[in-house]
Amino acid sequence: MTDMLNEHLKRLKPYQKRICDGILPHYIGGAPCLGASEQTFENITPVDNSKLCDVARGSARDIDRASKAAEAAFPEWRKASGKARKQILHKIADLIVARGEEIALLECIDTGQTIRFMKAAAERSAANYRYFADRAPEAGDGLALPSEEHMNYTTRIPIGPVGVITPWNTPFMLSTWKIAPALAAGCSVVHKPAEWSPLTATILAEISQEAGLPEGLHNLVQGFGEDVGVALTEHEAIKAIAFVGESSTGSKIMAQGALGLKRVHFELGGKNPVIVFEDAALERALDAAIFMIYSLNGERCTSSSRLLVQRSIHDEFVTKLAKRVRNIRVGHPLDPETEIGPLIHPVHFDKVMSYRDIARSDGATVAVGGSRASFSGEGNFINATLFTDARSDMRIAQEEIFGPVLTVIPFEDEAEAIQIGNDVRYGLAGYLWTRDVGKAHRVAHALDAGMIWVNSQNIRHLPSPFGGAKMSGIGRDGGDYSFDFYMETKNVCIAFGDHRIPQLGVA
Ligand code: NAD
Repeated sequence: MTDMLNEHLKRLKPYQKRICDGILPHYIGGAPCLGASEQTFENITPVDNSKLCDVARGSARDIDRASKAAEAAFPEWRKASGKARKQILHKIADLIVARGEEIALLECIDTGQTIRFMKAAAERSAANYRYFADRAPEAGDGLALPSEEHMNYTTRIPIGPVGVITPWNTPFMLSTWKIAPALAAGCSVVHKPAEWSPLTATILAEISQEAGLPEGLHNLVQGFGEDVGVALTEHEAIKAIAFVGESSTGSKIMAQGALGLKRVHFELGGKNPVIVFEDAALERALDAAIFMIYSLNGERCTSSSRLLVQRSIHDEFVTKLAKRVRNIRVGHPLDPETEIGPLIHPVHFDKVMSYRDIARSDGATVAVGGSRASFSGEGNFINATLFTDARSDMRIAQEEIFGPVLTVIPFEDEAEAIQIGNDVRYGLAGYLWTRDVGKAHRVAHALDAGMIWVNSQNIRHLPSPFGGAKMSGIGRDGGDYSFDFYMETKNVCIAFGDHRIPQLGVA
């Protein structure tokens, strides 16, 4: 055990005691509560699958109360000036920074994500609030669209109370990515976090309250998708659902919300290619390919889970890759040395592990890993895994594994790289490595994905659009795109003068 791990475990204790002793509550109408049913469920840590805490198990009645609280709070908040919204969102960002260590440490033991990345995720969460805080005063801005006899101008108005449903990978950061723009736009929120990672959602609700956000604007209901998730997507007070999670859940939510014509924004799964051409800066490409699949335990929607390598450099590239993958350090998530922590839950661990046998039976090679890490004890630790000799039609090349597992597929030329790149039902992200500018443009244009990075790993720029094509999503986050989702565009048309009005019923 390293000194730093010891130190982190020591620092974690008081935070853990404060939040995990007693029952982790909902926040409804600005106050913590245990909910109508008073039922609870157990939250475990992936480090050893022992119990971390009991969590209030929400019900449709809690969703009803939370949605009505959001509905009641909405009219005042939509009238609040952009400046007032800006100030309060900055205050939330300040408090996230102040509680950054607590957020990062708790996120690690709740999700298994490593401290080396969760510190940055807490900082990024504050940045999300600051970014949208600064844009709150201009959220309602629109266009002037003059015609010969009329002036048309547009404004945007907040859509109303919105439901935010988030997954368990980097849950705190993802929640802020949705809740900050919704509040900046003038909406109120009911948040349902994933049942496997409930801890930091409570901290965010506490921070909203501490920052003085008026009651009812940020409600939190803990619980399961099949009851509170369903109830939220069906509730008539909720005007839109911002959802991050699996594609199959997105389909269900669309059907559940159909009766109330809910607006939906979906950020879903991915099976993203990283394409390495023979003329690439190969060492940099290697670093980026490794980083984009093995960071965040591979539990990352934008992970580069398919490596497409040009056949002329394939063997040399894959030999170097395998050597590096063998060296990746699996360990306790609070140890700064750790590169891969435990997977979120035993159910997910079993799913990820099952792909070793699937790879073998499909005829691929398990070049590295595919095994429980020796560090493991009772936890969900898996070794970084590399499948080679794969074809695009294999399940390991088609299905989102959502773990530290990379599938390598060789290709001959540009046309085949594009064909394989697009040969999946997903279309979230694509990465490509080449020094040929023309080829970079052609391939970026030809890949069916919402986001392409050329000669780069995933670098997020907050004003730029984030989202997927095909089964990877509907809509975009980021900058003004977020406001477009949380707001209605209204057109006002004013006559300049006495233009002709058709007359009916004139004698
Ligand atoms: P999931 O779809 O199982 O669950 C996500 C959330 O939906 C949870 O809060 C869950 O309780 C809730 N839910 C489940 N069924 C529901 C229902 N019928 N109605 C309403 N809510 C319901 O996803 P997960 O396993 O928690 O997360 C992993 C998935 O998230 C992966 O597919 C990953 O790619 C995706 N993801 C996508 C992005 C992106 O930006 N595209 C980002 C992060 C994660």
